[in-house]
Amino acid sequence: MLTSNQSLKILLVEDEAADADLIGELLGDVYHTRFELKAVARLEQAIEFLQLEQFEVILLDLSLPDSKGLDTLIKVKEQVKTIPVVVLTALNDENLAIEAVRAGAQDYLVKGKFSEDLLIRSLRYAIERQRAEEANRQQAQRERLLSKIVDRIRQSLQLEEILQTTVAEVQQFLKTDRVLIYRCYDGCAELAARSPESGKILVEAMSANSCCGNTEALLNNLVLPWVCQQDSQWIQVLEDVNSQMSAEDLQTINCRQVKAVLTVPIWQTGEWKEQVNSIWEKEDNCGGEAKVIRENKPQLWGILTAHHCRSAREWQEWEIKFLRQLAAQVAIAIQQSELCRQLKLANQKLHQLATSDPLTGVANRRKFQQVLQQSWRLALKEQKLLSIIICDIDFFKNYNDYYGHLAGDACLQQVCQAIAKASKNTASVLARYGGEEFIALLLDYDLKTAIAIAEQMRQQVESLKLPNFQSSPNQYVTISCGVASTIPSVKLSVSSLIKSADVALYQAKALGKNCIYSTFYPPEVDYNSLRPILQINS
Ligand code: GH3
Ligand code: MG
Ligand code: MG
Repeated sequence: MLTSNQSLKILLVEDEAADADLIGELLGDVYHTRFELKAVARLEQAIEFLQLEQFEVILLDLSLPDSKGLDTLIKVKEQVKTIPVVVLTALNDENLAIEAVRAGAQDYLVKGKFSEDLLIRSLRYAIERQRAEEANRQQAQRERLLSKIVDRIRQSLQLEEILQTTVAEVQQFLKTDRVLIYRCYDGCAELAARSPESGKILVEAMSANSCCGNTEALLNNLVLPWVCQQDSQWIQVLEDVNSQMSAEDLQTINCRQVKAVLTVPIWQTGEWKEQVNSIWEKEDNCGGEAKVIRENKPQLWGILTAHHCRSAREWQEWEIKFLRQLAAQVAIAIQQSELCRQLKLANQKLHQLATSDPLTGVANRRKFQQVLQQSWRLALKEQKLLSIIICDIDFFKNYNDYYGHLAGDACLQQVCQAIAKASKNTASVLARYGGEEFIALLLDYDLKTAIAIAEQMRQQVESLKLPNFQSSPNQYVTISCGVASTIPSVKLSVSSLIKSADVALYQAKALGKNCIYSTFYPPEVDYNSLRPILQINS
């Protein structure tokens, strides 16, 4: 608000010396308002002055030696958009004056027809109106930017992208040197223990000629304690806190050449607070269990901060409000993205539960059937060999009876690992098929190779030397394997292939266990080199 005893700097552009003098006299008489009047007679001079100095209001005669009519006003407005202009017009030219008001002048005065009071009222009114218009314009611009950012947050879950665009737009909008979002890992809780690792700059936007260097120390040592101590609403204008700063802290600021800082906190209120880094881990790391700390009170997630370096700056009320509104939106984006990350993790876990065997960690029967169906179709289309190995632990009932069920579980796990090791580079899938049965699928390997892999499995298990001396003839845990291979055709079925492997396993058991029996499906086909082969452990 313009007060009546405020000094006003006016640029008078008037080529008629008598008119200029009159205005000078009228303004000179006013005792309660100090006027600083600069008078020029040509538009060219006016523009020069406007480039060099700051004026509060312009009194403009539209008819000048170097410019006439509305053009005069347009040229002045091009030069200074936000300084109010009061047009001076001759008695017979009032229509032109009205046009000038439509084109952006705040008011007009008819020469020879205004008193001191009217002149001053007009100048002050012009200034107020211009300010109100400017405030409205800024408000509208602010609202547009805010709703653009809100829309983006609603539509995207790409947190890093949202944050990056936010700081870039805010930096431009506030016309400041640097805007950044700083993540504080340990909130306000451990100020004393704050170290460079307790936070980091996530995103930032800088002006081309920004003089700000690495400001992490500034943020960590100076800004964050202030946010926390003042319980969180907003700002620091550095001059305010200077008096309470140590010489060392002041040195930090001077080194960075940051003249003014405006900071707003970003809070997270929720049931969770994610552990360091988890939100920034790449997709493929998301599978790991994120440690979640249950916290119900708000946590300082980070800060949104603007740095001004080129000159001192007193942050305006609306700038503080704007930044606070943005921080609230950013907090929503963070929460959204965190919920999405947790949902993704939960889904991954669900999927894993639905497709894997909890005891051994390998695929379950359901998963095996899926892979088998896909592989069958592929092998059918490309006429490739498909083989199945079923492994069954020998004398496992006795093992359980003698060593107990828990030991039986541990034995199952070790046997599974041994089988997995033997088939790790060849099997499309290895699954727990039943109690003590495992099944592996091989695509595009001949029967000989499938048998060799089964033999590897048998040897790996035997080499574990897990004692089973009550039952097994060689006193160690062993397995028997049935192998079946086929080249799929429309006349054959997936289940018959599995049945063939099962029959082969039965044969291996019948032949004394700890061995492999193989068959080709269908067995009546003469495959010469792919004849059933019996391998008995020597
Ligand atoms: P063979 O040599 O002919 O295969 O005889 P076996 O005793 O191994 O076979 P049988 O089918 O008679 O017994 C299988 C046993 O496997 C019975 C059951 O107690 C045990 N078993 C099945 N699932 C589990 C499990 O999850 N944990 C434990 N510890 N034992 C299991
Ligand atoms: Mg068994
Ligand atoms: Mg069995």
